[in-house]
Amino acid sequence: MKKYSRKQFIQMSAGTGVALWLAACGVDGGNEEKGSDTKTEPTPANVPDKVVDKPAVELIDKNDVRYDALRKGFNTRIDKKPLIIALCKTTEDVAEAVRYAKAKGLPVAVKSGGHCMEGYSCNDDGMVINLSMMNKIEWLEDGKIKAGPGCLLSHVYDEILPKGVILPAGSCATVALGGLTLGGGYGIFSRKHGLTCDHLLEATMVDGNGNIVSAKDDEELLWALRGGGTGNFGIVTEMVYRTHEAPKTLQAHYLKARKLDAERAASILQKWMEVTAKLPAECFSGYVLNGSTLNILITNYGEHSVAFQGLLKELADVMDQFRSSSRGDLQHMLRNYYGVGKPLYFRNSSAGFFNGYADVEPFIKEALAKVVATPGMIYQVNTLGGKVRDAAAEKGSCFPHRGYEFVSEIQAYSTTPTQHERTAVCTTEVLRLTKQSGINTQYVNYCSAEFEDWEHAYYGENYKRLQAIKKKYDADDVIRHPQSVRVG
Ligand SMILES: Cc1cc2nc3c(=O)[nH]c(=O)nc-3n(C[C@H](O)[C@H](O)[C@H](O)COP(=O)(O)OP(=O)(O)OC[C@H]3O[C@@H](n4cnc5c(N)ncnc54)[C@H](O)[C@@H]3O)c2cc1C
Repeated sequence: MKKYSRKQFIQMSAGTGVALWLAACGVDGGNEEKGSDTKTEPTPANVPDKVVDKPAVELIDKNDVRYDALRKGFNTRIDKKPLIIALCKTTEDVAEAVRYAKAKGLPVAVKSGGHCMEGYSCNDDGMVINLSMMNKIEWLEDGKIKAGPGCLLSHVYDEILPKGVILPAGSCATVALGGLTLGGGYGIFSRKHGLTCDHLLEATMVDGNGNIVSAKDDEELLWALRGGGTGNFGIVTEMVYRTHEAPKTLQAHYLKARKLDAERAASILQKWMEVTAKLPAECFSGYVLNGSTLNILITNYGEHSVAFQGLLKELADVMDQFRSSSRGDLQHMLRNYYGVGKPLYFRNSSAGFFNGYADVEPFIKEALAKVVATPGMIYQVNTLGGKVRDAAAEKGSCFPHRGYEFVSEIQAYSTTPTQHERTAVCTTEVLRLTKQSGINTQYVNYCSAEFEDWEHAYYGENYKRLQAIKKKYDADDVIRHPQSVRVG
């Protein structure tokens, strides 16, 4: 570990150089449509037997050259094969597709950006409603925007940042607004402004009967869509958001420690939690233990104050390396966190919300020892807090984890069957240790098939209210996936 003199430290934290933040996210995979040269019109011959009276919405089956691109998501571990994919361009298309699926007895899954960690935006032998083409952004009065669920985050940022506004959302370029917003949505701007779902003012939804409804007419529906709307009872086709004035610049600070054992990784985690809980709201931080290497990122678009420098120094003193980027143009800086590569084979999931080190102390050393010893594993903890805790936002949304300062994720990347097995065992073990220590709250946007009591882990006491919404809008359970809200 390296100790810095105050002078050395100030020089470094004002230095230059940008590192690529470790983020497993592609910029060109997922839901992008392929070129028009690959398209064929579905003909009666390539429509499956079950599809008899074809509605006007475009239906794609397994014989269509676009079928694979449209069904696959960002996770190559998932390989589900729907009977038909409805490639929708309008809300009416979606309504028609749902009515058709209901008449044919097909379960409906909903896909916007295809980043669901368990692939719940696809199904076997049902209908997938693909919203990737519903990706327009329209400007409304007072800086509000109306956006389609298929808008990828890179598209959103490219459209709104040059106009000087920001929507607090995630950082991965190919995550779509649909899934992100309806499950919560947090990132670099959340501590200052709250979650993405807190910015959702209106939504248009097609329910399980194929009816088009507006959340304007039903406050309880808007409440449910703010954090409880991922493929549960309706398909959201348009969302209106409020935005904020964007900061012009952002600075990033990178800290690294190598060859860690679980003891040191845990002791740095404790320090990181103490320090980051005191960061200004303009900051975000992530603790990323990748095998035995630890990376810490701190972003700041506020003042580089003396107090902030003091906090950085406290952390730098327990790490091996420290450097800062220059303060760069916001849009340019955000691109550093867009992620790398094409779709990947992974098994990532939420690993609990925490308030501080006392919450993790009973299990953390054992869990981190498993991560350190298993190639392909990453244990990540990110900051929440600040405006995420807002009482009005809590009342107005069904996201139930406002009280926590941190959200954690266990990530497993692998390339061979043996490694898949080892990382899967490690993931299960880390989740078991976490649960055994009484941590039962999980982020629905980092879903896992391993959560037995997922209803309460994701939604807490709000699950019952969501069941009433389900009953109202999709009593026949047409829109469903393995962890969708049940009618009750
Ligand atoms: C690499 C990576 C990086 C990530 N980074 C972040 C991050 O920085 N911050 C964060 O908060 N989360 C992050 N996530 C989690 C992400 O928010 C969720 O995976 C989110 O659900 C993805 O949305 P999607 O539309 O891309 O995925 P999809 O797979 O299309 O959808 C996800 C879920 O939402 C449902 N859904 C999608 N669209 C609609 C709709 N229009 N109406 C109703 N239901 C719908 C689907 O049925 C499915 O259950 C990340 C995930 C990955 C894989």
